[in-house]
Amino acid sequence: MKANAQTVRVRFAPSPTGHLHIGGLRSALFNWLFARHHGGTYLLRVEDTDLVRSTKEFLASQLASMAWAGIQSDEPIVYQMSREVEHRAAALGLMRIGKAYPCFCSPRDADEVVSSLEAGFGQKYDRTCRDKTYTEEDLKKPHCVRFRLPDNLPHVSFHDIIRGDITTRGEYFDDFVIIRRDGSPIYNFCVVIDDIFMRITHIIRGEDHIPNTPKQVLLYDALGVTPPKFAHLPLILGKDGSKLSKRDAAVSVEEYRAQGFMPEALINYLVRLGWAHGDQEIFTVPELVEFFSLDDVGKKGSIFDAKKLEWLNGIYLRQSSSEQVLQAIAAMNQSLADELVAVWGNEKLLALIKLYKERAVTLVEVAHQILGLAKAPSSLDVALIAKWRNERTASLVGAFSAKLNEEENLSHEHLLQVANSVCDVQGEKLVHLAQSLRLALTGTIQSPGVFDLLGILGKKESGERLNRLLGLL
Ligand code: GLU
Repeated sequence: MKANAQTVRVRFAPSPTGHLHIGGLRSALFNWLFARHHGGTYLLRVEDTDLVRSTKEFLASQLASMAWAGIQSDEPIVYQMSREVEHRAAALGLMRIGKAYPCFCSPRDADEVVSSLEAGFGQKYDRTCRDKTYTEEDLKKPHCVRFRLPDNLPHVSFHDIIRGDITTRGEYFDDFVIIRRDGSPIYNFCVVIDDIFMRITHIIRGEDHIPNTPKQVLLYDALGVTPPKFAHLPLILGKDGSKLSKRDAAVSVEEYRAQGFMPEALINYLVRLGWAHGDQEIFTVPELVEFFSLDDVGKKGSIFDAKKLEWLNGIYLRQSSSEQVLQAIAAMNQSLADELVAVWGNEKLLALIKLYKERAVTLVEVAHQILGLAKAPSSLDVALIAKWRNERTASLVGAFSAKLNEEENLSHEHLLQVANSVCDVQGEKLVHLAQSLRLALTGTIQSPGVFDLLGILGKKESGERLNRLLGLL
């Protein structure tokens, strides 16, 4: 699909009524990538008109999630609520040209026929006020404003870049409310007025908005404005094929951040949900920008696979430098990062991250394992030792500990040599000594290379941990 580089303007329009959903982040990403690919502009509009459900806390959380993911608006954020005056003025404009009218039906009647969106298709307003004349004075009485549906409307059609032509029969529509009796504009109306104001060229959003689109198209026509192009993204599904819910997996971006996923990995994973570029699984952001096209977005919903996301996160961890991983830990939890630096000092911490990131899945694991290493194992598992120990273990560990005590060179290579020579003398395999050392240093039989850990822990601390094991052998 060709889009004019100069004119592409897209927006992500979340409502701050909860934390940012991963489906929302995916919509934001597709908009952002589309804008970047075409050299266009990506905008954020906060749809904060639901005064009951929108909160400052959710707004702050959503903005923080977007900042964490690196998806930020190219222009100042538009807050929908601050544009109510414009929304009302636009409704008045439609009234003046006869495309909307005040409806004075009693609230009870009006409640019954609010709009087909709220009442469901089939319940239509009976048009009592449609052809009544009204004066300026009448407008002081309580009323809502209704859209005047064009006469003889066989159908409303729009083209969707992903799904093709979508046509809805005219009989499904009524003279729907655009401004409620309390003066607040309805969603479908604000969206159109704001998208026109923001000069949006392409609307890329979840397919749950398909039913709203025909009404928006009707409003564009009434306003004499060509509608933007539409692309409705398939849903993200849970294992059973229904819309992803909390039962399937964490659904907020915030939870993934807190669980220790790297933003790059989450982005890579989410973009691949619904979009493909051959068989490629791992993409840098510049690659995504280069390759992204709505032509490659499928119609079918994609099943969320937490295991695959973990796999990707592991790959991103291994690809990142220790400095980048430390930064990512800080972006996840600044006080955890501060604690790590305070406990280990920068140099040792970076050396440890280099070791631990090779085998971890999340940043939380990396951070907690490294913090855990700072303390000598609180207890050594006697059963584990019994499984491992043989008649040479004590003398082997003792001999190595004595040599370590005399060493000045604590490099991996040198300590490995020392261990090999101790094993040669005692006729034991290196793996036996290494596993014993691992148990002494970490209390576990799985850890990064022990000859690296010895050097980082230092002679004194390592010696003390080895002595504790010796005491139990
Ligand atoms: N505020 C709407 C939502 O959060 C999105 C509106 C739109 O993209 O047109 O679902």
